[in-house]
Amino acid sequence: MVRMDVRVSHVTLQEMTSRWGSCRAATGRLTFNTRLGMLEERLIEETVVHELCHFFHQNHSAAFYAQMTRWLPDWKARKAQRDKADMRPRPPMAG
Ligand SMILES: [Zn+2]
Repeated sequence: MVRMDVRVSHVTLQEMTSRWGSCRAATGRLTFNTRLGMLEERLIEETVVHELCHFFHQNHSAAFYAQMTRWLPDWKARKAQRDKADMRPRPPMAG
């Protein structure tokens, strides 16, 4: 098991239309799309690791992806699967 030495201050779940998550490294705030809960655990894990990597790299540079690979060697396959999932909030049920 790999341990990440990061300090998370807040984790927020909210409806998002264009992202699965976001990270504010300066404040330690992580935000995740509520729809993430509908995905397989391995896809949730990839999203969480992605956002945690932003504590070290506030971009999607080669160094960022190298770190992703170190922590989650099969992240690409997981991301490809996650990218196919619908992230938009569901409309309220009629009636
Ligand atoms: Zn990112």
